[in-house]
Amino acid sequence: MNPPGPPDDPHAELAALVRDVRNGLAWRARGGAYAAPGGRTARPPAAPTDAAVSAPAPDLARVAPAAVAARAIEVAVDVEAPALGPARTLPVIREDLGECTRCKLSETRQKIVFGVGPALAPLMFIGEAPGADEDRQGEPFVGRAGELLDKMIEAMGWGRGDVYIANVLKCRPPGNRNPEPDEVAACRPFLDAQIQAVRPRIIVTLGRPAANVVLGNDAPISALRGRFHEHRGVRVMPTFHPAFLLRQPERKRDAWSDLKQVIAELERLGVAPPRPARG
Ligand code: SF4
Repeated sequence: MNPPGPPDDPHAELAALVRDVRNGLAWRARGGAYAAPGGRTARPPAAPTDAAVSAPAPDLARVAPAAVAARAIEVAVDVEAPALGPARTLPVIREDLGECTRCKLSETRQKIVFGVGPALAPLMFIGEAPGADEDRQGEPFVGRAGELLDKMIEAMGWGRGDVYIANVLKCRPPGNRNPEPDEVAACRPFLDAQIQAVRPRIIVTLGRPAANVVLGNDAPISALRGRFHEHRGVRVMPTFHPAFLLRQPERKRDAWSDLKQVIAELERLGVAPPRPARG
């Protein structure tokens, strides 16, 4: 944010007021954009490009070759992300969250699932919301989908303890229903604060809802995955949610293609994995 102008500068004051109103509207739009059809498109769709898949991946790619999804319809919104306050540490953010009752999911959750990982992680994975296993244990991605996510991370040369893992929502929607816009709007500031604290070099969003919230659009995952986007200066790679991959294992090859781009981009940024990536 720009610093406010001097008190005797009416133009600066007016500009600051307009900026604040715009940020407020953007905040509401982003909360509503989660489920609302028809987000604003700032740029016309780009021509589709091929999703490059080269070497097969271990574990992840033990599937029949799948047709590569046509993709890359570029959808972007010109909505500004809400203004951030000063960065806080993860323990302070958790303390601020407290025994949160900011939305109705507090009435049905068992445990808040805040997030796990080191304070400064080069790689951050963001899912949608806790499921039943996570709700019981208070940790993200611990069920079957979590086991697959662990394999995905390990195939990249990292370990679960090396990366930060969080969800958009910190409480489980009952019956695993879709989160509602007011719930996303209530919880989103904590995800923003986590991203600000962790300062990842790359974010991998898992599934469409997480991608839509982080990127502020309502595009389908097939139009988002396979290429980098940007969120507040951080590269974002949307890919499939592990739970989806368990249901449709033939898409693991596509997911691995996305993750290989992440490996290459980290390398370009000078971030080496603790172990060599497989595949
Ligand atoms: S989902 Fe987020 S905002 Fe809602 S009660 Fe849980 S922690 Fe609070």
